[in-house]
Amino acid sequence: MSKPPPIPTDDEIVDTIYRVVLDLFPKTCPNCGKRYPDLASYIRGTRKIGPAYSLDAEMDSWRPSVPVGGIAMANCACGTTLALTTEHMSVEDSHRVLNWVKANMNKRGMSSEQLTGLIREKIRERALKEAETTASSSSRTPRD
Ligand SMILES: [Zn+2]
Repeated sequence: MSKPPPIPTDDEIVDTIYRVVLDLFPKTCPNCGKRYPDLASYIRGTRKIGPAYSLDAEMDSWRPSVPVGGIAMANCACGTTLALTTEHMSVEDSHRVLNWVKANMNKRGMSSEQLTGLIREKIRERALKEAETTASSSSRTPRD
C-alpha cells in the first residue's frame, strides 16, 4: 500500500491560498467603480459576509479532477457583494487544501466551513500585518 500524502500544516495552507488570493488584485467594484489595489485595502474597505467555504468540500468532493475552488464574500461600501475565489488555484494545490480540510474535520471535529473560516481569518491577519510593515518601512507619512 502506498503511503497517504502528509497532511499540510495550517501555515502551509495559509501560504498557498494567500498567494492565490493576492493574484486577484487589483480588484474593482463593478457597481461603484471603487478600486481595491491590494488585499489589505479590500479587507479595510469591505465588510465580510457569510462563511468562507470550499465548494468542493461542500459537495463532499475531496479529490476532484477539476476543482471548483473556494469562495469568500464581502460587501463593498456601496452594498454590492464582491467575491474572492480560488477557482484558478492549481489542481495539485487544491488537493492539498482539501486534504488538509478533510484531515482536520476528523482531527479537530470541525466542519469544513469552520476550517476554511479559520484560514480566511489568518489570511486577513497576515494581509493587514504585511501592509503595516510596508507602510512603516516606507517614508510615507501617515495622514492625520
Ligand atoms: Zn462598490
